[in-house]
Amino acid sequence: MKKILLIYTGGTIGMRENPETGALESVDFDKSLPLLKEVRALRIDVETVKFEPAIDSSDINPSHWRKLAEIIAANYDRFFGFVILHGTDTMAYTASALSFMLEGLSKPVVLTGSQLPIGKIRTDGKENLITAMEIASAEDGNGNPMVPEVSIFFHDKLLRGNRSTKSSADRFDAFTSFNYPPLARAAVDILYDREYILPYRPDNKLKLHLSMDNRVIVLSLFPGIPEDMVRGMLSIPSLKGVVLRTFGSGNAPQEEWLNDLLREASAKGVVIVNITQCAGGYVAMSRYETGLHLQQAGVLSGSDSTVEAALTKMMRLFGDGLTPAEVREKMSIALCGEF
Ligand code: ASP
Repeated sequence: MKKILLIYTGGTIGMRENPETGALESVDFDKSLPLLKEVRALRIDVETVKFEPAIDSSDINPSHWRKLAEIIAANYDRFFGFVILHGTDTMAYTASALSFMLEGLSKPVVLTGSQLPIGKIRTDGKENLITAMEIASAEDGNGNPMVPEVSIFFHDKLLRGNRSTKSSADRFDAFTSFNYPPLARAAVDILYDREYILPYRPDNKLKLHLSMDNRVIVLSLFPGIPEDMVRGMLSIPSLKGVVLRTFGSGNAPQEEWLNDLLREASAKGVVIVNITQCAGGYVAMSRYETGLHLQQAGVLSGSDSTVEAALTKMMRLFGDGLTPAEVREKMSIALCGEF
């Protein structure tokens, strides 16, 4: 029997309706989990760790990511794989963060959750949980994990964690990886696309990066964005990194003030990474003049990264204590399939 550690952090999957307010609130997951019996029928040996109290994922912060990474590291040798139950709202941030914090990972870490609580008759939580367990315990034919990376299973797709985005607030099919194919599809069988899954590397050693530096912002451009607002953000003294959300293939207004502000911030050591506001596609700054001037001002291309991946990657690199030049260099290299 494969041993899987189930880590329950909170989220809708374990919530109940408050009879007075009608709002969903976290409850003790044990009360909603008779279905662990069904999991046992899959011949999986499950142990459970719970966050106390359970949290709505909008309350997640880097201290929770650290706790998750530490739980995984402390139990790494005892378990074949890990399943994390997590609220959907920030699941893509957590999956991205963990992919960078768990360097050298060679075991499955599958995040899942649900849009309806597990106690509701139409819940999507039961299938999500059971399939995530099955994926976390799947072998490749040589006894090694089939999916030795951080992933999100939701509805019928397994996605690379640091390629995923929550794309619907109410559909059961709530996550999309716009720029990378699914790692697996779940129908009658679970069909793995091994071409897209990171290879199992027997010599990998897990190395933790627990410090995440949050002196970063996401700056989303819009037509008519005022100079003083951009100046205000870029002149925050402790600012270390910016995810700049631009138009199309990485374009921005050609205002001189914007160029000057970006150039000054880059020269001061602020790392600015260009990510498109489009759901799909990649940044190609030399395609138009409106992108080229950003490159000339020192802005880096984030290629086809998600905002979640670019942001958490910078947090980890600055958390490692790297210099701006070193962060710039590493932002241009894919560390674990994030672009
Ligand atoms: N607000 C919830 C959360 O992210 C939503 C969910 O779990 O789907 O925790």
